Amino acid sequence: MRTPIIAGNWKMFKTIAEAKAFAEEAKAGNSTSGVQKVICAPFTALAALKEAFAGTDIAVGAQNMHFAEQGAYTGEISAAMLKEIGVEYVILGHSERRQYFNETDESVNQKVVAALAAGLVPIVCVGESLEQREAGETAQVVRTQTEGAFAGLTAEQVGKSIIAYEPIWAIGTGKSSTAEDANETISLIRSVVAERFGQATAEAVRIQYGGSVKPENIASYMAQPDIDGALVGGASLAADSYLQLVAGA
Ligand code: 13P
Repeated sequence: MRTPIIAGNWKMFKTIAEAKAFAEEAKAGNSTSGVQKVICAPFTALAALKEAFAGTDIAVGAQNMHFAEQGAYTGEISAAMLKEIGVEYVILGHSERRQYFNETDESVNQKVVAALAAGLVPIVCVGESLEQREAGETAQVVRTQTEGAFAGLTAEQVGKSIIAYEPIWAIGTGKSSTAEDANETISLIRSVVAERFGQATAEAVRIQYGGSVKPENIASYMAQPDIDGALVGGASLAADSYLQLVAGA
């Protein structure tokens, strides 16, 4: 059985003070067990969140990192720097990073390799644009992105990773994919993992859906056989909403 995982992606929201306020509220209401909980916050809030969540089952994740161990990369953060403050997860290849910061399947792959080498769990994002969906290219796009992100890795490494299927047209738009459509694409991603890394890895790897997930629709996604949780933007910003998502998983 794959443990469901509900990850919040705060994107570029919340100061340290706001993150701390979220943590206090989340700790007070945190009563669901059997679900893995992760909050992926801006770099500046990570250390404070780690401290605030100490002794709880809420883990902390980053939203990006550089693939090099260290070097002259002004403005960048390495995997070791994240590990040092107790970060356990890192979102890689989010569509906003691919779109606005020129991330490619190749750089995402380098980051996945570096994250795993440092002992971080990568949450690897894949997903098609509206144009690609309308052109019937969804299957090819998610195949290429999945194969690209995990190129050269071992089955064991892929099994430790998390994949988030986020159709770009559903992100922040309120237009969520139907649970059936999301499940169909996620099962296709799982079959790509099976082809490349074997059936056991495909059955172990957790694949989330992301894109306008809310407390009102989380149950419909979780009812699908191949969907193992959600990567949530807007609805993860308020503690009560995040906890409802966890309860719905
Ligand atoms: P929303 O939940 O705000 O649609 O964002 C989804 C997302 O991009 C999570 O990474």
